[in-house]
Amino acid sequence: MFRSLLLLLAALCAHGAAPFGLAVHGGAGNVTAARIGPEAEKAYRAGLEKALAAGYAILEKGGAALDAVEAAVRSMEENPLFNAGVGATITRDGTHELDAAIMDGRTLKAGSVAGIQHVKSPVGLARLVMERTPHVMLIGEGAEAFARAQGLEPVPNTYFRTPRQWETFLKLKASEKARPTTKDTVGAVALDRHGDLASATSTGGMLDKLPGRVGDAPLIGVGTYADNRTCAVSCTGWGEFFIRAVVAYDVSARMAYQGAPLDKAARAALDAALKLGGEGGLIALDAAGHVTQPFNTPGMFRGFRFSDGRASVALFGEGAL
Ligand code: ASP
Repeated sequence: MFRSLLLLLAALCAHGAAPFGLAVHGGAGNVTAARIGPEAEKAYRAGLEKALAAGYAILEKGGAALDAVEAAVRSMEENPLFNAGVGATITRDGTHELDAAIMDGRTLKAGSVAGIQHVKSPVGLARLVMERTPHVMLIGEGAEAFARAQGLEPVPNTYFRTPRQWETFLKLKASEKARPTTKDTVGAVALDRHGDLASATSTGGMLDKLPGRVGDAPLIGVGTYADNRTCAVSCTGWGEFFIRAVVAYDVSARMAYQGAPLDKAARAALDAALKLGGEGGLIALDAAGHVTQPFNTPGMFRGFRFSDGRASVALFGEGAL
């Protein structure tokens, strides 16, 4: 009896000591300090800090990883600097079509939406799909109708437009060399005090995409995945290559089947996609609190914050993992 009490106490202490925390990304792309300038650099850093703080505040209070990733991603959806929510990219036809997904590593429940034109927070809608329908993914008009039925106030498509994205759209339209480009997609992965993992991703998609195009972000197992037994992953990059390499699930599978550590699994899964072509990166977190943030672009906006004191925000090829 006394021995089992001691064991229980030890288990509780060990549990209490496990780190909790989260990592975020604000997209991988051709970004360098010279290209974006000091003002934008400061603003991106502040945007990442804000997203980390939003998620961390929830984890600190004992909240769920699922709530933390949603809060972190919502914070970046509301920030016009990022390609998600306000500030999302513009399709070749001049409209915004947003994709998002969220996944709970404890239950393997997931929700996702694609081609959203009138819902402020696509990640919030993805969560509702997960929790209030028997489905995983809703797209286009059906997803909008579900949002309205849930009481979400529709916004005009121009709600997402920013002068910066409009300028980029006009430039791409005038250019004959334009090709789909990645930039500023957002995502978060979190580990809470209970040992649960979660992941979320939100994006306007590639610059200059065709209307109707769906990227990797809302596809479960591709741009977004979480499983308590392995890891939580959120990807950014040229979605078509990530789809063909099924990147996020590949990270998890390498851990499950090969016993690979998180960083090796993530690097190998990312490399498998990049070998096909394209560019990008990912953030991943495991149940022991290891984090990794590999990418092959000049920059990836990224950061993490953990209860054991590890914290970082980095934009370019420097610094963080
Ligand atoms: N992965 C996103 C997509 O293909 C784009 C990005 O990460 O910037 O839609």
